[in-house]
Amino acid sequence: MSGSLVSTDVLVIGGGLAGERCAIEAAAAGHNVLILSLVPPRRSHSCAAQGGMQASLGNCVKADGDNATLHFLDTVRGSDWGADQEVARIFAEEARIAVRELAHFGVPWTRVRGGKNSYFIKGERVEIEESIENDGLIMHRDFGGTAKWRACYAAAGTGHAVLYAVDSEVVRLGVEVRDRTEAVELIHDGSRCWGAVARCLRTGEHYPILAKATVIATGGYGRIYGQFTTNATINEGMGAAIALNTGVVPLGNMEAVQFHPTGLIPSGILLTEGCRGDGGYLLNKDMHRFMVELEPHKQDWSHTSRSSPAAMSSPATWRSRCATARAWRHRTGRTCGSTSVTSARST
Ligand SMILES: Cc1cc2nc3c(=O)[nH]c(=O)nc-3n(C[C@H](O)[C@H](O)[C@H](O)COP(=O)(O)OP(=O)(O)OC[C@H]3O[C@@H](n4cnc5c(N)ncnc54)[C@H](O)[C@@H]3O)c2cc1C
Repeated sequence: MSGSLVSTDVLVIGGGLAGERCAIEAAAAGHNVLILSLVPPRRSHSCAAQGGMQASLGNCVKADGDNATLHFLDTVRGSDWGADQEVARIFAEEARIAVRELAHFGVPWTRVRGGKNSYFIKGERVEIEESIENDGLIMHRDFGGTAKWRACYAAAGTGHAVLYAVDSEVVRLGVEVRDRTEAVELIHDGSRCWGAVARCLRTGEHYPILAKATVIATGGYGRIYGQFTTNATINEGMGAAIALNTGVVPLGNMEAVQFHPTGLIPSGILLTEGCRGDGGYLLNKDMHRFMVELEPHKQDWSHTSRSSPAAMSSPATWRSRCATARAWRHRTGRTCGSTSVTSARST
């Protein structure tokens, strides 16, 4: 150990959206907060999210009648009833507040344009008249598995816009951020966590940070799959690893890794789901729309009506069906590219 002791009320390991949002809440409640991050927070992988975030504001015609209960039902169905329903309920309720709060932080959400609008639905151009009263409200786009259009988005750069706004709030509140710093070990006594050992990535100096509360918000670990991931090179799972290293902290739901059906080969860069929400569809190498056979109702996107909820898939279910379909087509020689994996993982 080469550096001097640092102490704080709340230590947040991770400067992505999860860590920074948590830091804002703790700092606003009057606690002293310290954030650690491998990279400057604005380069955290949250920045890569494009498509949007779900909130049942019900602001456009295709979202009419949406509410937190429908959002909750979609979420629970989408998890194949595996989700913690109390948590899903909180998410569905709070998302509506969170989206408006983010607008207050400065996120330039795409807005409803009152009057005639042109959208692409199932690959077809459709004209829809948005109400003039809703002009200027936060707009929604279609995402797989939802009964209504529900994803709030900032053009094709939702994560970028949200992370910059949230980080600005962190700066405004004067929260200390130590970037290029890695938490390499948790400090604990077998029953309680007391902070972490940090390593400065510029100098190599190690030092202890003592904290009354420690939050691990180190993001996904798609890089354990090597090249075939949409995750940045820093997403290696160190946060999970240091928790596991204590020998006393269990990790939960490790199998719940998101497979995205439209990762590009060979880069692993994601072709956002928003493309299909905005009317794009998938073709195999014979220019055939294979999702129409596989999911006649939902096709490349879920457009299931409320009258047939049993046929509804969520983003997660839809993605896994779509990814499975792509993998099968690849094995039978009907996809483009020469590698053996067609889907990228994104956590
Ligand atoms: C390509 C892509 C597109 C996506 N699109 C969407 C979308 O449209 N809608 C949606 O809701 N979700 C989307 N997601 C998922 C969403 O972006 C992520 O789930 C979310 O941003 C994760 O936020 P986070 O704060 O947990 O992690 P991250 O943003 O990855 O942040 C992790 C932080 O932890 C830090 N860190 C890691 N290890 C350590 C350590 N040992 N010590 C100190 N710091 C550490 C890193 O520096 C970083 O600051 C997408 C994901 C990807 C990859």
